[in-house]
Amino acid sequence: MYHHLHKDLGNLDALLDKVCTQGLDYLKTLRHRPTATEHQVSDNHGLREEGLGTEKALEWFNQKLEPIIVASSGPRYLGFVTGGSTPASIAGDWLATVYDQNTQTTGGEGDISAAIELEAIQLLLDLFELPDDFFGGFVTGATMSNFSCLAVARQWYGKALGKDYAKDGIRDKLHILTATPHSSSLKSLAMLGLGSRNITKVNTLPGNREAMDIADLETRIRELKGEPFILISSAGTVNTVDFDDAEAIAGLHKKYRFWWHVDAAFGGFAACSPEHKHLLKGWEQADSITVDCHKWLNVPYENAFFLIKKEHNLLQAETFQNSDAPYLGDPMENFSYLNFLPENSRRLKALPVWFSLMAYGKKGYREIVENAIGMTRIFGDFIDQNPDFELLAPVRLNTVCFTLSGEENQDKVQSFLTALNRTGKVFMTPTVYNGKKGIRAAFVNWMTDERDIVIITEEINAIAKKIL
Ligand SMILES: *Cc1c(COP(=O)(O)O)cnc(C)c1O
Repeated sequence: MYHHLHKDLGNLDALLDKVCTQGLDYLKTLRHRPTATEHQVSDNHGLREEGLGTEKALEWFNQKLEPIIVASSGPRYLGFVTGGSTPASIAGDWLATVYDQNTQTTGGEGDISAAIELEAIQLLLDLFELPDDFFGGFVTGATMSNFSCLAVARQWYGKALGKDYAKDGIRDKLHILTATPHSSSLKSLAMLGLGSRNITKVNTLPGNREAMDIADLETRIRELKGEPFILISSAGTVNTVDFDDAEAIAGLHKKYRFWWHVDAAFGGFAACSPEHKHLLKGWEQADSITVDCHKWLNVPYENAFFLIKKEHNLLQAETFQNSDAPYLGDPMENFSYLNFLPENSRRLKALPVWFSLMAYGKKGYREIVENAIGMTRIFGDFIDQNPDFELLAPVRLNTVCFTLSGEENQDKVQSFLTALNRTGKVFMTPTVYNGKKGIRAAFVNWMTDERDIVIITEEINAIAKKIL
């Protein structure tokens, strides 16, 4: 055994204790850690012939890298849609690393990690009050979830034309309808050979909405004269968290032949709030659904899942089965996760989810979701009542999309945001909405509370004073 490995093995207690203490220190000071850094990572010296051993490697990391790691898992990181990690999810994630299982097969002959994954999916269906006619699996993020769902949609489309795209490839131009898709759905279309430009844009509703105009959708469906198509709908757009009318789409789904995919990466969590779950009404009729776990479920990266109706199991296996690998068996007879999703070997991503759902239950997640919505409202009211700013859209759930008041200040939006992010007290990300430069603040972190809103609004007022 290499001498450093041998030494590390003998010293495991002390090493892991050290890392645990360091992790605790990070978590306890997270609220005060800067949300941005201007430091760059200084150049590395390449791979050494002789390693350092873990203790020295840790010292090196702590000297060069640890001090410039930002508090993106903390309560005032409002950029993109960035969740934190609940204590239970950290426990589950640490254990997933230690146990280092490869989630491929079900119980019985193999290991039980796939059984844990199936159980976690069941807990998620309960959380979202979805029926158990969905089959689910974990992937790295909502991008891969959209990819997985649309890959099966593509196979469904081929079958509707009497073809097997998975086996023979694809030469057809598919009809894909959508109104305000997330960029990752377009990226998925690119990766799937369907073409990110090959979409038919359905109109959005009038009056500052990003949601699909259902009447226009039906007109476009009629124009297809019975040809199959894929519909990508949104349950929570990134800019303004608008929802396509799932109930109306469910009605159309009964009438016309199409694959209905719902991207509910973070909007799906509206299901946890009695006041907001109506936004998702009808989504249980979809063929496939994307939900992210590293956003509003507040488990560590990389974590998301997809749901596909069980009636499509065969299409799913046709899409993802490992061909010409007899040792993996017939996917429809011997269930193996690796024939039902894009990645073969995977870590036990279900464990942090399982832990967090077991630890906090329905009520815990209702409070996480409602707290974030409450913080969004308070911050949205601050923007709305402040003459220096204007909301670009009404606050619908957990995002405030705003800009500086006045056309003449459009040039200052970026410098305002840069100055705000440089404070290290809060982090937001830029956007463009209705042709205007804007700023987005998304609230999904379980820790955010009123104290954070006070800090954020003070910083904003101070910078507005300087810049405007
Ligand atoms: C974040 C997001 C995605 C992409 O998710 P990743 O986890 O970054 O891959 C897809 N759709 C929506 C609506 C999102 O908000």
